[in-house]
Order: sequence, then structure tokens, then C-alpha cells
Amino acid sequence: MKGKKLFTRIFVSFLAIETLIFLTLFRWETNFFIESAVVFLLSVFASYFISRYICRPLEEIRKGAEDFASGNLNQQISVSGSEEMEALADSLNRMAKELKKRIEKISLQKSEQEAMFLSMKEGVLAINSSEQIIRVNRATLDFFNIDEQPVNLKRRPVYEIIRNADMLEFIRKSLNTDGHLEEEITVLGEKEMVLLVNADPLYNAEKKKIGTLIVMNDITRVKEWDKMRQEFVANVSHELKTPITSIKGYVETLLGGDVKDAATQEKFLRIIAKHSERLNAIISDLLQLAKLDKAKEINLEERNLLPILETAVQNCTAEAREKDIKIEISCGADLKAKVNESLLERAIINLLENALRYSDTKRILVYAEKKDENILIGVKDWGVGIAKEHHERLFERFYRVDKGRSRESGGTGLGLSIVKHIALAHNGRAKVESEIGKGSNFVIELPVI
Ligand code: ADP
Repeated sequence: MKGKKLFTRIFVSFLAIETLIFLTLFRWETNFFIESAVVFLLSVFASYFISRYICRPLEEIRKGAEDFASGNLNQQISVSGSEEMEALADSLNRMAKELKKRIEKISLQKSEQEAMFLSMKEGVLAINSSEQIIRVNRATLDFFNIDEQPVNLKRRPVYEIIRNADMLEFIRKSLNTDGHLEEEITVLGEKEMVLLVNADPLYNAEKKKIGTLIVMNDITRVKEWDKMRQEFVANVSHELKTPITSIKGYVETLLGGDVKDAATQEKFLRIIAKHSERLNAIISDLLQLAKLDKAKEINLEERNLLPILETAVQNCTAEAREKDIKIEISCGADLKAKVNESLLERAIINLLENALRYSDTKRILVYAEKKDENILIGVKDWGVGIAKEHHERLFERFYRVDKGRSRESGGTGLGLSIVKHIALAHNGRAKVESEIGKGSNFVIELPVI
């Protein structure tokens, strides 16, 4: 539009000047009139072309600028005309190039931020004052088992998406509060999950509150660890309390001087010695477990397994002879594995002691063999066996099938837990196969390295 107007103006200006010259020089003579008319017409043509010559580059620049405005920054304006016009086109081209570079940079930053936001493991949820979703990421939807794409949820009322009553109440509370809020919320799903939810007010550029920003962290495992730690402390206290109470009771009785005869005194002292022994056993096992927990890596060396099995068996021969139980060994003389000798020996002794104490077997087999990609080291008995419902918990700290028998025979309830941790320290695992009345097979499965 503007180009045309400029063209019209230039052209009309030329016409006006030519008409003025024509009128100034006008005389009433036929020849002069014809000549002048011809000259006038020629000058009108010339004016037309000169006007077009001046305006064309401007028109091209206008078209180019319009293209830039509509987002097409890839094209270049090319004009041939005056130096000034070429400079103007050049400036516009540079501006478009710069603009394109900046837009690309901003788009890249935006997509990076978007990717980060969507893939964060913390749930993020921004809600406006009308309880509509401004932004939400994948983690939030996963926490609440919502099978939707985050982009499709913008402006949707949050209560249509999140059905957890505690969470909705928390969102409402945070929309009505100006400060920071924090709460633990339990989400019931396939698996119960505990979320630590934080909320802070959301402000716009004018510092006006426009909603709330909620960040959620899955703290289920932390809670589980905390519960396990509490249970462990309670168990240890309980385990230690029993022998300490007994020792205290017998010592006080002896100190009271009421027990006069030597036989009873000796009996009491033997009980005290037994409980002290028990305390000692619990504390050594706890220290052993703590050491295994702390050790990030243990020293593994390639060793023949047969001598390790033999040493472990030797350790238990006295008890076996006393109970008239036969211990057999089955292991190839050349069978090797990468092991920590003393830890593996400890684990086998623990398994052997258990078989001797609890199985009522007449025969125990200690074996090591290569099976597929693993080395299996096991202790097998043909005794009472263990019911299936206990198998999963057997390797937990302080878990016992028969509490009375375990304590009576000096068990700490930590033996199998130590076996499990020794197996894990060897990058392997411990498992049990057992059936009531048929016996048990405890196995340490190590990878062949
Ligand atoms: P404990 O110090 O009581 O022996 P463990 O962790 O070694 O603790 O064993 C846990 C429980 O598993 C034992 O108390 C016992 O009831 C059961 N158990 C372990 N080995 C056997 C076995 N070979 N036969 C029967 N029961 C067993």
C-alpha cells in the first residue's frame, strides 16, 4: 500500500513539474503545440519509468520485510538499486539472520528445559488459583497412576485428574496459604507409596500470587529403611535385654548372700556364664554384619574350594561327633572360585552349625559344584526341614523358625543374615530349598568370574 502511494506521489510530482514547465513555455502556435505535446507525452513516460525505478527496490524490501514478519526468516532480500537501498536490504537480511539465530537458541533452551522438566524424577505440579493445571510432569502422573500425556492436561481442573483426597486437600490448603507447606501423603496403588509433598506460592512477573507450585518426592524407600532401622534397634534391644536381665538377677541373688550352698552357687554362675557367652555371640555377629554392611568391596582371590570346605567342617567336627552326625564333603579338587576365604568359611560354618542344631539329621553334605554360569556352595541335610512360609524371611536379621530352640542352642538369629551378606559381598546370593520332613539345602550361589 505504502509503496504504491510513494510511487503515485513521485509520479504525480513529476507530472506536476512537467505540466508547469509546459504551461510556462506554452504559446498558441500549432507547431509548437504539437512538439510540446510530444515532448510532454515522452516526459510522462519517462516519469513513469523513473518513478518505478525508484520505487521497485522499496517494494521488494517491503515484500521481504512482510515475509520476515510472517516468520519466514530463511529468505534473503535482494535488491539492485541505489547504494542506500542495498544497505537497507542488507541490514534487514542481517537482522533476519540474527533473529533466526536467537529464535533457534531460545527454542533449543525451551526444549531442553521441557525435556528436563518432563523427565525429572521429582513430581512437579503448578496449579492456578482456579484449581486448574498450569504445568505437570510425567513423574507426578506416574505417582498417581494417571495414564495421560502431560501436555493434554493444561487448564484441566486438578480434581478431574488427581483423585487422591489428601493431595487435593493439600493443594487447596496451599492455594489459601502464602507460605511454604510440607506434608507426607500416602498413595495407595498396586504398591503403597509415601510422597513428601512441598508447596510454595506461585507469583507472576508483577509479584501477584497466581497459584501454587507443588514438588513431590517418593520417600517410600526412606520410610521403609527407617522402619527397618527402628525394628532392628528394637530387636537388638530385646535380644540384649534377655541375657542382661538374667545376668543381673543371678548376680544380685548371689550378692544378696541368700544362696549358701556351693552347688547352687555354681549352677547360678554357670547360667551367668551362658548368658554372657550369648551376649558375646550377639555382639560379635552384629559387628560382623556391620563390617559387611560397611565394606564396599571385599578382597576376592581365586582359591581352591575344597580346602575351604574342609576347614569349615573341621570347625564343626566336635559338635557333630557329640550329636553322632556324619558330615560328608563333595567337591572337585580343582574347583576354583574368586572368594574371600575367611568370609566364605564363616558362611559355611554358620550353615553347618544350623544343620547340626536344628535339623535333627543324621547326615550332612557340604558340597561345591559348577552349574551353568554359577558356582554353587551348599550345606544339605535330611532332617526336619522348614515350612515354605518361612523361606522368604529366613535370611532377615533375628528371624527364627523356632525361637525357643534357637535361643536354647545359643543361636543369635543372625547366622543366615550373615550368610546372605557374605554371598552379596561375593556378588552372589543365598537361597534355600527345604521341605518339611525331607530336609533343607542352603546354597550360596556365586558367579563364575
Ligand atoms: P540362629 O542364630 O537362630 O541359628 P539363623 O539366622 O542362623 O539364626 O537361622 C534362623 C532360623 O532358621 C533358625 O532359628 C532355625 O529356626 C532355622 N534354621 C536354619 N537352618 C536350619 C536347618 N538346617 N534346619 C531347620 N531349621 C533351620
